Order: sequence, then structure tokens, then C-alpha cells
Amino acid sequence: HPIVELQDVKRIYTLGTNRIYALNGVSISIEKGDFVTIMGSSGSGKSTLLNMIGCLDLPTSGKVKVNNVDLSRLDDDGLTAIRRNNIGFIFQQFNLIPTLTAIENVEIPMIFNGASPAKRRKKAIEMLKKADLPLEFAEHKPNEMSGGQQQRVAIARALANEPPILLADEPTGNLDTRTGQNIMKLLKELNSSGTTVIVVTHDPKLEEYSHTTIRIQDGEVVE
Ligand code: ADP
Ligand code: ADP
Repeated sequence: HPIVELQDVKRIYTLGTNRIYALNGVSISIEKGDFVTIMGSSGSGKSTLLNMIGCLDLPTSGKVKVNNVDLSRLDDDGLTAIRRNNIGFIFQQFNLIPTLTAIENVEIPMIFNGASPAKRRKKAIEMLKKADLPLEFAEHKPNEMSGGQQQRVAIARALANEPPILLADEPTGNLDTRTGQNIMKLLKELNSSGTTVIVVTHDPKLEEYSHTTIRIQDGEVVE
């Protein structure tokens, strides 16, 4: 079965008397191990779609399944559990906690899963290695690192609980071209070792890294 499946998903926002069809009948199916870019211009519905796949929001109508679980049957706690077990998030702004070191930032998702401090630290170092952060930065805080290094820490954090899916929202949007390419190469490596990678972007240059492109326009899949 596909790892992510949307069937005729609509997400309608109501603003006063206006109804905005942010997603207007989207059906997509993403296989385990795929590397997908979701492309579309500003306002096309990318963030709304990311929120559906990331178990952050539910559709107005239609069905979303993640790892074969139908999200519409879940309450908030159920959604949170599915999200924690299945999805690692990567953002344009890195979203690291500025007062914590690289290692401590990576440990955060493991705290929620109840791992012991020693185990967390060991795993955090392992994940920072996987994300190719030079380990002399492990005790550095975000403002002592370059953008590319911060994104590597964010990727290590996303990997902490070994989710089957990495969901990246404009992961290179704050990086220069070469650093962005290196981050995309890292995502490609992680994909080669089995993680399903989904990148949401308006940047056509990211398409070359993926196996599959989903193009969205005015809330509809056009390709
Ligand atoms: P993208 O991420 O591609 O820029 P979005 O998913 O953010 O697109 O937005 C799709 C459409 O839904 C846009 O018309 C946007 O203005 C509208 N929209 C998004 N979020 C909300 C919201 N919370 N309330 C009302 N309208 C929204
Ligand atoms: P934008 O793409 O508009 O710049 P962000 O990249 O900050 O927005 O966030 C993308 C989406 O992910 C948002 O809809 C937001 O609700 C969600 N999000 C933001 N931060 C987190 C987080 N720490 N954990 C889970 N979801 C988040």
C-alpha cells in the first residue's frame, strides 16, 4: 500500500461569506521509498497540502491515509501520535531552539518519546553524523553555525525518531545555491537508504533530485 494517500481531498477555508478552496479534490498516492517534489506557485495550496500529509490538519472532505491509517478517524492525540511516529519535518527557517546546542536540539523529539539522557545523547550524535555535521559543531548553538550547518542539525532532529517520511518545506529557501545543492544531496542519500522524502517548493531547480513531481495549481493537481 502507498505510504501517503489522499482521495478527493478538499480543504475549504471560510473567510466571512467567502469560501476558499485551498485544495479542491486532490487525489495523490506516494509509494514508500519515493522522492517527491510538490511544486506550485504561491497560493496554489502547497502549505495546505503539507499540513494534510504532515497530520497537522484534517480535510473538509475526502480521505487522507498515512501508513495506511485513515486520519479522519483520529482525535488530536491520535493525529499527534501518527505524526510523531511517521513524519520528520524540515523547514525553510530551520526552526532550531536558539538557546540549545546542536546536540540538545536533536535530542528534543527523543524527550517526548521517553528515551534516557544517555541514550538520547548517543542517538543525537549518531544522527548529526548521518546529517554530515562536522562534530566540532555538536556543542555549538545555532547562531554559531552557518545556514547550511543549521539545516543539517534540523535534518538530524527530523531523523531522531527514525520516521519513515521526511517532509521538507522549502528546505533550501534560506541557503545559497551551492549549500542548497548539498542539502538536497543529503536528502537524496537519506532517500537511498529507505526514507520517503517529500519536498514542497516553488523552486523548479529542486525537481531534478526527485523521482516524482506533483504539480499543484489553484488547489488542484495539474500534473
Ligand atoms: P501555498 O503554500 O502554495 O502558498 P496555501 O496552502 O498557503 O498555498 O494557500 C492556498 C489558498 O488558501 C490561498 O488562497 C490562501 O490564501 C488560502 N489560505 C491558506 N490558509 C488559509 C487560512 N488559514 N484561512 C483562509 N485562507 C487560507
Ligand atoms: P511557511 O511555509 O508559511 O513559511 P512554516 O515553514 O513555518 O510556514 O510552516 C509550514 C507548516 O508547518 C505550517 O502550516 C505550520 O503549521 C507547520 N509547522 C510549523 N512549525 C511546526 C512544528 N514545529 N511542528 C510541526 N508543524 C509545524
